[in-house]
Amino acid sequence: MHVPTHILSGWVVSNAFPLRPRERLCCMIAATFPDLDGIGILFGQDAYQRWHHVACHSVPFGSMACAALAVIASRSAKRRWPIGVLFLALFHLHLVMDYFGSGPGWPIVYFWPFSNFRLVNWQAWELNSWQNTLSAAVLLAATVGIAVRLRRTPLELLMPSLDAQLVRKPSPAKSAEFLADIRSRRR
Ligand SMILES: [Zn+2]
Repeated sequence: MHVPTHILSGWVVSNAFPLRPRERLCCMIAATFPDLDGIGILFGQDAYQRWHHVACHSVPFGSMACAALAVIASRSAKRRWPIGVLFLALFHLHLVMDYFGSGPGWPIVYFWPFSNFRLVNWQAWELNSWQNTLSAAVLLAATVGIAVRLRRTPLELLMPSLDAQLVRKPSPAKSAEFLADIRSRRR
């Protein structure tokens, strides 16, 4: 499936749990990082075909990446285990989405580099199919719903001011200014 659809899947799932902004950002990364192996496109079609759905879509790589992400996501050792499990689930959600929505016959080499066992779906939807468009639309609608209800967007940590504008909450800079103003009046 397309990268933006994977990013939104991580965002929507992360909002079903009581997480912190940095943890939610890492959820989006966990749902998307397997597509890093698509970077082979820079070295030509052959490299792309050879490595995409192989190097970063394998469970050994996915497990290591999720463990590293859990360490980055949370300073609390207690939270790292459950968060790591959530990241691993999101990594697998990525594989499921690719299995159904990346075009027929494109294998996922699940145990690479230890085995060449391949997950292949000959009935998978084309990348530009209506099913993929519908999946993206549903996730986008859920993202809008989260913005309205929880007043946050996937930009909350990377672009806090834009996030604040989008959901009409005071920006962090404005809040700091406001607090400083109140404190100076109290003196
Ligand atoms: Zn993928």
